[in-house]
Amino acid sequence: MNQLAKQIAIIFLVFLAISAMFTFSNSSGKKPETVSIGQLVSQINEGKVKSVKVTGDELEIVLNDGAKETSLKEQSSLTDSLKNYGVAPEKIAAANIEVSDGSGKDFLVSIVPSIFFFLLLIGFVWMMLSRLQQGNVQAMSFGQSRARIYWPGKDKNQITFKDVAGVKEAKEELKEIVDFLQSPKKFTDMGARIPRGVLLMGSPGTGKTLLARAVAGEAGVPFFSISGSEFVEMFVGVGASRVRDLFKMAKKNAPAILFVDEIDAVGRQRGTGLGGGHDEREQTLNQILVEMDGFETDTNVIVMAATNRPDVLDPALLRPGRFDRRVVLDDPDINDREAILKIHAKAKHLDKDVIFRVIASRTPGFSGADLSNLANEAAILAARREKKKITQTEFLESIEKVMMGPERKSHLLNEREKKIAAYHEAGHALVSASLAHTDPVHKISIISRGKAAGYTLQLPSEDRYLKTKSEFVDQLAVLLGGFVAEKVVFSELTTGATSDLGKLSELSRDLVTRYGMSDKIGPVTFARTGEMVFLGRELGERIHYSEKIASEIDNEVAKFIEDARKTAERIITERRKKLDEIAGILIEKETIEKEEFQKLMKKA
Ligand code: ADP
Ligand code: MG
Ligand code: ZN
Repeated sequence: MNQLAKQIAIIFLVFLAISAMFTFSNSSGKKPETVSIGQLVSQINEGKVKSVKVTGDELEIVLNDGAKETSLKEQSSLTDSLKNYGVAPEKIAAANIEVSDGSGKDFLVSIVPSIFFFLLLIGFVWMMLSRLQQGNVQAMSFGQSRARIYWPGKDKNQITFKDVAGVKEAKEELKEIVDFLQSPKKFTDMGARIPRGVLLMGSPGTGKTLLARAVAGEAGVPFFSISGSEFVEMFVGVGASRVRDLFKMAKKNAPAILFVDEIDAVGRQRGTGLGGGHDEREQTLNQILVEMDGFETDTNVIVMAATNRPDVLDPALLRPGRFDRRVVLDDPDINDREAILKIHAKAKHLDKDVIFRVIASRTPGFSGADLSNLANEAAILAARREKKKITQTEFLESIEKVMMGPERKSHLLNEREKKIAAYHEAGHALVSASLAHTDPVHKISIISRGKAAGYTLQLPSEDRYLKTKSEFVDQLAVLLGGFVAEKVVFSELTTGATSDLGKLSELSRDLVTRYGMSDKIGPVTFARTGEMVFLGRELGERIHYSEKIASEIDNEVAKFIEDARKTAERIITERRKKLDEIAGILIEKETIEKEEFQKLMKKA
């Protein structure tokens, strides 16, 4: 639109310039004087006239001294009129009368502006039309897929398995897919069916997208990639036609990989939404199913898809002949984290003191994406400190930034807020240190980070895959440590504990309804998806248990919380001196590191 306005403005300016030119060319020199026929007659008699040009009734007179005049003649011809005025014939001849019938230059001069204007109009209309057409083309390409395509060899950052650390089992599985793509004949000759759909499952940031591209890179085939959410954003019917285009394109370029990222955006179980059913999504999903079924057995296109919510996928997607191969990407363990860090630090200037093993050991729960982010933050920090190389210090400091967002040093607490925050965090730390089944306190701080006013960082000393009930119970008490400390010390509560309480009720409910850890309710799980989007489904599941069970669950949850509160309160009142000590140091220094805290706790 903006461009159109610009073009119109330009055309307008050109028009102005040209009409100005015409005006100027007409008035070149002095403006001709208008004289009467009588004056002309006397000028001719005096022999002053060099020439007279007649166009219709208009006369253009040029005098011997170069001056120009205009005049109007009567109906009859100029020669006759002059004769009537009694001008001698030789004088008339000397006046060089030239009659033009109006089709000459003068006519052109008068018509050129109109022609010009006409041309302008045509040009303008033509431009509008072509614009419209472009718009049309755009509107039409809505349907065409907006897939990103990576051609083998053409992509400078070709990704292969080398670029993906960890996820060993997934890589093994996918090597088979690479084999299929490279030599399908080997398998079809055996009578084996080429797998059609491979579903990559794993938490966010575990490298699903990366791995899918690596498969294409390894196999050296074109890679068509589109994200599930992109299907949804368009008008009704467009998603389905995009799917059709995408499959057509992939088939034409077979062998190829067609990758639908975040397929849960379109592949959610149908008929569960509360919002009156999402027609567009269902149509898109149906089209994917239709296309996958429509593959000839020898079509060498493998459809890959990625999701971090396999639990919500429509069962129809998982049927044989569709996404029947499922590849799980595990969260990275300490070895994987070390390897991932090495990959992302490869292109960076590292100091010799960087020990990846130590960084990996301090980052349990980090995904591949977090680690790549960590390496980047460390580089930024080193650059900001004008260092030549990234040292271990930058890496370790960046861990907290990646975990909890940047420090907000400008967010200053006043004296009283500082005291409350100090006691709150000291409460968490003290309860944690006093219980047996908790992760070691890594750092306590009352510097705001992200949304938190302060934080107590606890990190497991090793990767763990199972958690025990005792650990959960202690964790509940730790979560309440801040709340209870505020209450005991200030006999007053603040909003500082809001997020603790949220986690507390979520965790205690999980204990009862998901982990079967309540003695009274026993080993039953009541599935819970915990996301508003699935409200419809959750309501449906609630029906599976009675009002009575529901109130029993509530009672059990309340009991877990009450026990945790008692534990926290006991520790905080019994060890009040220690609490004061920790809080005092926090107020003074704002942070306490692991070593200092451990020393502090060992002291009587
Ligand atoms: P997902 O699709 O599973 O959410 P991505 O594949 O988009 O995760 O990963 C995001 C980024 O994190 C990748 O571009 C890569 O830089 C990094 N990453 C994740 N997992 C790994 C891994 N296993 N090895 C190396 N880098 C990884
Ligand atoms: Mg992804
Ligand atoms: Zn807290």
